[in-house]
Amino acid sequence: MMNFIGGRFVAPHSGAYFDDIDPSTEEKIGDVPDSDERDIDDAVRAARDAFPSWSRTTAAERSNLLLKLASLIEKNLDELAELEARDSGKPLSLARMLDIPRAVANFRFFATAILHDASEAHVTDTTALNYTLRQPLGVVGLISPWNLPLYLLTWKIAPAIASGNTCVAKPSEMTPMTANRLAELSLEAGIPNGVINIVHGYGGKAGRALTTHDDIAAISFTGGTVTGSAVAANAAPRFKKLSLELGGKNPTIVFADADLDEALKTTTRAAFWNQGEICLCGSQVFVHESIYEKFVEGFVRITNELRIGEDIGALISAAHLEKVTGYIELAKQEGGTIAAGGKRVDRKGYFVEPTVITGLGTDCRVLQEEIFGPVATITPFRDDAEAIAFANSTRYGLSASIWTRDLQRAHRVAAAIDSGTVWINCWLLRDLRVPFGGMKESGVGREGGFESLRFFTEAKNVCVKLG
Ligand code: NAP
Repeated sequence: MMNFIGGRFVAPHSGAYFDDIDPSTEEKIGDVPDSDERDIDDAVRAARDAFPSWSRTTAAERSNLLLKLASLIEKNLDELAELEARDSGKPLSLARMLDIPRAVANFRFFATAILHDASEAHVTDTTALNYTLRQPLGVVGLISPWNLPLYLLTWKIAPAIASGNTCVAKPSEMTPMTANRLAELSLEAGIPNGVINIVHGYGGKAGRALTTHDDIAAISFTGGTVTGSAVAANAAPRFKKLSLELGGKNPTIVFADADLDEALKTTTRAAFWNQGEICLCGSQVFVHESIYEKFVEGFVRITNELRIGEDIGALISAAHLEKVTGYIELAKQEGGTIAAGGKRVDRKGYFVEPTVITGLGTDCRVLQEEIFGPVATITPFRDDAEAIAFANSTRYGLSASIWTRDLQRAHRVAAAIDSGTVWINCWLLRDLRVPFGGMKESGVGREGGFESLRFFTEAKNVCVKLG
């Protein structure tokens, strides 16, 4: 694998590479460039050189190129899904159904959104007319994680370049493959050289160099909360525009009047999809005490039916496997009962059984910290007030899912929960136009729809004196 800078595939300055590992076989599948600030510097220069002409293209021209890229991703869906599954450990069926189609949708969505964007005008009585120009920022830095590699990388690249910026993207060091293929497809689509640059490498080296580079106007970061804090500390003194999409510990609340079959089907999926490695996974389930036993029984039954390999993929790395199984041990120490799963699977690859834990309160670390694996807790609650208090008890505020047939309760509870997204009787139902992001330590800013286009542009007010 090579870096993609100025439309060419180039080796890293260091000449060094590290191993890309398939988490489901523990075997090496590629060499990843160990890039540093010299490679980032080259990429930023290429992006800066490409900016003047790219930013002067019409929205229709950019739209056409992005649509071409979307079609090429779609044409290569099978290959991209296989690369994604091998690189990340996720089930191939999920990569085919979720990750790659979403990458296509991201480019199509922003390619057409820019054709429908409009900006404001403010008329000051008869004295002045103000209008807002939204201009691209220049070169933007995009940093994405390993759990939804192409999905999240394109969620940033598409609005960034659609708005007329050029970019330097650093995918996760653990999942570089689809980013590399995207680079090839961008050439085929005819995206001009230097508009998209991709530099691989470690977060602490290549990623850090991107966040501290003087010629990067904005950083859009998706990843863990601790890393987000380091990114903010580097970017803030340099006055870079910053968007942070961080971790979550998302509550699912099931009231006594919920459609139990539907709730069980979806809340188990919310807990274990992508082996729990989605920032939006509903990893802590709160259930009204009157249906608690029945719910736990159903949840455990469905969990035990999940097939390792087909429904539950491998965790991303040996280190992450240690972290996840460490939390299962911690749950036991904290007094929890393992109601399903609880162990590493006895086969090659970093597989962990989907695990259900009961008997823990919200004061336990297992209910406070993001585990990011196939581990869900179920805790009973007495009334609405307690359910809301439980849901708001962590430092995170990314998403929540509420299950009830009572509309008034649903709206009341949704308004009372501190999170950027609340789903009622559903989970992960996404409309790309809606604002997406986190409250509290789950992030700063919103992505999605015109929010993304606003982030990647600078608003300039032009005031014209009338008369
Ligand atoms: P991470 O360790 O924070 O890494 C995210 C990205 O940041 C990676 O590309 C990483 O590179 C890079 N990075 C690491 N240190 C850096 C530094 N000092 N400066 C600049 N970049 C740096 O997160 P992850 O483990 O990949 O992903 C899991 C986390 O992402 C979870 O907490 C999850 O909740 C969160 N997430 C949030 C959302 C959301 O939309 N809110 C979506 C998905 C995931 P390396 O991979 O090379 O370390």
